[in-house]
Amino acid sequence: MKLTDISTIRALLGQEQTDFKKKYGQNFLVNEGIVKKIVAGSGANKDCGVLEIGPGIGVMTVELSDAAKKVVSLEIDPDMVAILDKTLEGRDNVKVICQDVLKADLPAIIAENFSDCAEVRVCANLPYYITTPIITMLLESDLGLDSITVMVQKEVADRLVAKAGSDQYGAISTFVAYYGKPYKIAAVSAGSFIPAPKVDSSVVRIDVYRDRPVKPLDEKLFFEVVRAAFMQRRKTLVNAVVSALGGKIQGLNKEKMTEILVSLGFSPTVRGETLSVEQFAKIADAIKTFSENPF
Ligand code: SAM
Repeated sequence: MKLTDISTIRALLGQEQTDFKKKYGQNFLVNEGIVKKIVAGSGANKDCGVLEIGPGIGVMTVELSDAAKKVVSLEIDPDMVAILDKTLEGRDNVKVICQDVLKADLPAIIAENFSDCAEVRVCANLPYYITTPIITMLLESDLGLDSITVMVQKEVADRLVAKAGSDQYGAISTFVAYYGKPYKIAAVSAGSFIPAPKVDSSVVRIDVYRDRPVKPLDEKLFFEVVRAAFMQRRKTLVNAVVSALGGKIQGLNKEKMTEILVSLGFSPTVRGETLSVEQFAKIADAIKTFSENPF
């Protein structure tokens, strides 16, 4: 059964008396070359367990099952799960769980299924409106993942991989770069899906750090500084940070913040969009030290 074949997809949906569901972002890949490129680019190998999110009719699941040691696929739609029963028949290294990924106990699923796997990788092709929350949740929850491979809208991909100083660089770029190394593995045209979405896509892989190279003294404060810098993009860092944190940290006024930046070798008019993760961490650490000893 060729799962990138449009007549096969329509027949499978027809047998379950279902159709493409917009509310679940059901745009299925029909470009076999892209499916293979994503699976190869995801780093799936015979030592690894893959947590697939949003398998649909199983077009990537089949390839992942050939490439990986084990695959666990989380799918929200029971109609898709009924189809997966047929398309994955006989594949004993695949388990399908009918569940909303946002409600799933991922640490338990990983512990239960992948304890005998040397690596754990995520592969996801999800509705675009939940990709950013899911990437954020996967990175924040310290699941011991080796990589996350995810299909996103092209413009979102540009932001995820953006380097400091570029137009696309923002809070999400800093966030991702704090947790891992992101890079694009495939460009995917709208015509590679049925139904075709209105936008082009890209697949991004994030290699998650086991040991993060940048370790701010206070992670919460580090992210507050990053968010402040990008929430008020046109302001200098001094103004952005003082307006966001000045009320919380005693004595953190414009003069003090300028003094902190200059003492670290930055220009007093530096803007957040030019700063790397390391530089944000240095600044956040200096603010932390000052907050503990303001006088
Ligand atoms: N992986 C398939 C492919 O590439 O053709 C299907 C991709 S389709 C864009 C997204 C899939 O994610 C659909 O099967 C949809 O039902 C499923 N899905 C949507 N929201 C979900 C959620 N919260 N949890 C798990 N699966 C979800």
